[in-house]
Amino acid sequence: MVVQKFGGTSVADPDAIRRLIEIVRTARSADGTGPAVVVSAMSGVTDALLKIAGDAGDGRLEQALAGVAALRERHLAAVQALVAASERERLVASMAEHFEQLDAVVKTIATIGETSPRTLDVVASAGELLNSRLVAAALAGAGLPGIWVDARKAVVTNDDYMRAVPMAAATNEAMQQYVRTQVDAGKVPVLGGFVGATVDGHTTTLGRGGSDYSGALVGAGIGAREIQIWTDVDGMLTADPRVVSSPRLVPTLSFAEAAELAYFGAKVLHPSTILPAIEHDIPVRILNSRKPEGTGTVITAAGTAAGTPVTAFACKKGLTVVDITSSRMLMAYGFLRQVFEVFEKYKTAVDVVTTSEVSVSVTVDDTRHLDAIVADLRPFGEVSTEGEMALLCAVGDHFRSDAHLAARVVSVLEEVPLRMISQAASRRNITVIMRQADLQPAMQRVHREFFE
Ligand code: ADP
Ligand code: ASP
Ligand code: MG
Repeated sequence: MVVQKFGGTSVADPDAIRRLIEIVRTARSADGTGPAVVVSAMSGVTDALLKIAGDAGDGRLEQALAGVAALRERHLAAVQALVAASERERLVASMAEHFEQLDAVVKTIATIGETSPRTLDVVASAGELLNSRLVAAALAGAGLPGIWVDARKAVVTNDDYMRAVPMAAATNEAMQQYVRTQVDAGKVPVLGGFVGATVDGHTTTLGRGGSDYSGALVGAGIGAREIQIWTDVDGMLTADPRVVSSPRLVPTLSFAEAAELAYFGAKVLHPSTILPAIEHDIPVRILNSRKPEGTGTVITAAGTAAGTPVTAFACKKGLTVVDITSSRMLMAYGFLRQVFEVFEKYKTAVDVVTTSEVSVSVTVDDTRHLDAIVADLRPFGEVSTEGEMALLCAVGDHFRSDAHLAARVVSVLEEVPLRMISQAASRRNITVIMRQADLQPAMQRVHREFFE
């Protein structure tokens, strides 16, 4: 049996959900059981919900409530189009509960004038909870035994709201209880992605793009033979299609390559997705819901060596470089630990690190605590920051065996001023940092050199 996760554009409207139904039907007839289905919110809904919370927090209650009303309309229109008349009343009543809760939370936010991460999660989770109810009913209406499963029961997380971390043992157990039993009973369980809850039952979310992660958690928890990520591109491409005009499909990837690509910006897969898949050795396949006949990209432990020297390029904009320069670093020990403790204190992840005798440079993309971080770093030396930076990363298992490959990537970029260069011990990638303005031409150049 497989787990099928459908992203926002693959559930954007009734036509997309009809395509989903046929994809589910095909999987069910191939396996004779399942699949388990995980859905994102309809495209744009999570952004809309966060805007609603922002409006309420800034005192624009009317606007926030109008936002909720617009979402209600969009979902009710989809119910009309997809769900059998006999089932509609029950579904609409269950959805109304979510909308009433949204209205109430929005009013509370407006009254207090403040949004805590915990409150934001109650708002942000509504998109997935609503859509999973809708898709379960739409499947049932199409003759498939869809049944809604509350993701807040199946995914148990810590209380780091907005980027909660699932607790593996508790989640696996809950998956057995709430999802596996439904599959065994011949049903097609449908869960909202992105959403979980703490042991105490407070709603959490797994961070933006987190529905992929939910898909992998379901796959690991119920022992699926494959985790399918259905999206709007043919699979993992050799470069971000928004940056390079005609990237190619990468047919196979190793877990390690996929993890590096996802981590360094290939948005098609949430980086954490790989973890549960690795632990249970379950292949992950990325597929296009508009072209279900494609074979997509299959990600497995070993992968299959790419026929090209570089497997793919990833890139990420909006980075800030932080430089710490100090002669105290010279021959000293414990200096790096002190520096990184500052980032740890502010729960700010560091992407790329380079060091010299007297300086350390790191990149961060979360700048919420940048001022405080810089202030805390000052006692260690001179600190400076530079925003609007970007990362370009070449990934491939061939970097391990071909000593010239890294030099080739860098030499193709000879005209681009490179701020940092890093090749880590995995020797599966080479990463360079440049000004954001240089990224697009740089990506085009390396892509042309290696793939065109
Ligand atoms: P979903 O809503 O299905 O989760 P996402 O928007 O999260 O979809 O991810 C799919 C998008 O990822 C694609 O539309 C594409 O623009 C972007 N993307 C970035 N890098 C890559 C890449 N290397 N291969 C494929 N898609 C990529
Ligand atoms: N709906 C959530 C988001 O937009 C999660 C997801 O789609 O993966 O981030
Ligand atoms: Mg996504």
